[in-house]
Amino acid sequence: MATASDTELVSVNPATLEPVGSVPRTDPDEMPRIVAAAAAAQEQWSALSPGARSAVLHEAGRVVRAHADEIAGVVVAETAKPRTEAIAHDLYPAVDHAVWLARNAAGVLADERVRFSQLHLKTKKAWLLHEPFGVVAAITPWNIPFGIPFTEVATAIAAGNGVVLKPSELTPLTGDWVARVFVEAGVPAGLVQVVHGDATVGAALVDARGIAKVFFTGSVAVGRRVAAAAGARGCPVVLELGGKDPMVVFADADLDRALDGALFASFINAGQACVSAERIYVERPVYADFARGLAERARGLKLGDEVGPLISEAQRDKVEALTGARRPDRDGWFLEPTVIEGSLPDEEVFGPVVTVEPFDGEDDAVRRANDTEFGLAASVWTRDLEKARRVSRRIEAGMVWVNDFGYSFAAGQAAWGGVKSSGFGRTNSRHGLYECTRVKYVDEDRGLVRPAWWFPYDDVTADGLRGMLDVLYGSGGERVRAAWKHRRGLVRAARRSIGR
Ligand code: NAD
Repeated sequence: MATASDTELVSVNPATLEPVGSVPRTDPDEMPRIVAAAAAAQEQWSALSPGARSAVLHEAGRVVRAHADEIAGVVVAETAKPRTEAIAHDLYPAVDHAVWLARNAAGVLADERVRFSQLHLKTKKAWLLHEPFGVVAAITPWNIPFGIPFTEVATAIAAGNGVVLKPSELTPLTGDWVARVFVEAGVPAGLVQVVHGDATVGAALVDARGIAKVFFTGSVAVGRRVAAAAGARGCPVVLELGGKDPMVVFADADLDRALDGALFASFINAGQACVSAERIYVERPVYADFARGLAERARGLKLGDEVGPLISEAQRDKVEALTGARRPDRDGWFLEPTVIEGSLPDEEVFGPVVTVEPFDGEDDAVRRANDTEFGLAASVWTRDLEKARRVSRRIEAGMVWVNDFGYSFAAGQAAWGGVKSSGFGRTNSRHGLYECTRVKYVDEDRGLVRPAWWFPYDDVTADGLRGMLDVLYGSGGERVRAAWKHRRGLVRAARRSIGR
């Protein structure tokens, strides 16, 4: 007999440990029907004009603003993150991306004319079309439980796709809001499907026939599993995975700003942000002051109001064991914000813990920043923007910010994603839109010229083709010499082309 936990998914507030609400779990056997429903709606959706789709995206931004307090309320209830963070990290990206996509998706994905300078292709007209995949899957984490699924779904539908979204099992009610917003904004019924459950449901979604691409955001271990399963059936994936992000602070930085930036970058979302700073490298002359200042500021953060709990007991215990961060004397899965002088193993710490170490000069900074298997984001802090530019280009990461941190997640035009173990492919920006489409090359030709390289083959035509190679691609003198040397073959090839 099915128990409540087989059929219901209950989310729990990690500060009060009280249940927040429940949703029905999706039966993995239902996946084919769910994907088919999204596919039916996608046919209608992709047949709409780009202008009509833009209007819906614009409306989606308005709907998020209209329900801003309710959505932020659910995010706070399911994660216990501070309300400021729900607004800044979940609502701002959602609205910014909806508006950016509404204004730009049609232009980015417009047919591109292909021009030919090659003489033998002059009779052709061609285009590159950006066609939707059909139905794609978005599998998302709990830490930005509205912002991440919303932006991924918005980008996918802006490109004409239907989407099956699997939000984290820890934040299902927030996940439901994503579909609610798009329905209220006017997408065809069924275009955005939400499935609920844990790894079993996620795996069934990745395996589902009809899912033409998977956008996965989550941990490295699960991402690799998802990529392997998708790859086994030839399905492409985008992986947005974890990081071990460095922050490089030069001695000439505005140290007060760098300290505030370090505090925010380290303890944002209680350190449970994919791009949170985990390793801070400070140039030796200012190292001691910086390390002391950061520890002092960290002690001043208010637990609960500014630094929320970890999402689960298991996560709290894992971070505690890995780092030695202390549990405060209060209910909920909290850990004290912790600054460690020294290093930790090269493993993502999803919690309020950061390490600080000194460095000596630019090369050392770059070497330390790159000394990791991850490559999501990084930040560089200095008043010397030339130096910042040099160092940014040498850091192996998908995003590098100068004298700032993280803001670009809430900017529709900025690409998001990592290198090395942090993943591949991009979300957001024009590159996120390209990930949601397949490029098709199409052309037009009246068929008046018959290619000389078609059957039948003969030696004279082959000689003409040989000469043509130099005539088309050689330098001035080479072209003239080739035209003379291969003149007989060239005449034969030309005659064949015009059918004589
Ligand atoms: P997770 O990998 O545990 O889960 C992510 C999602 O995958 C969830 O919806 C989960 O149910 C699902 N899932 C689990 N097993 C699956 C399977 N076998 N097949 C398919 N789906 C499966 O990650 P999490 O704890 O929810 O999120 C934290 C991680 O996400 C951190 O590593 C963080 O760095 C990363 N993250 C990355 C980005 C980015 O943009 N690069 C953004 C946010 C979070």
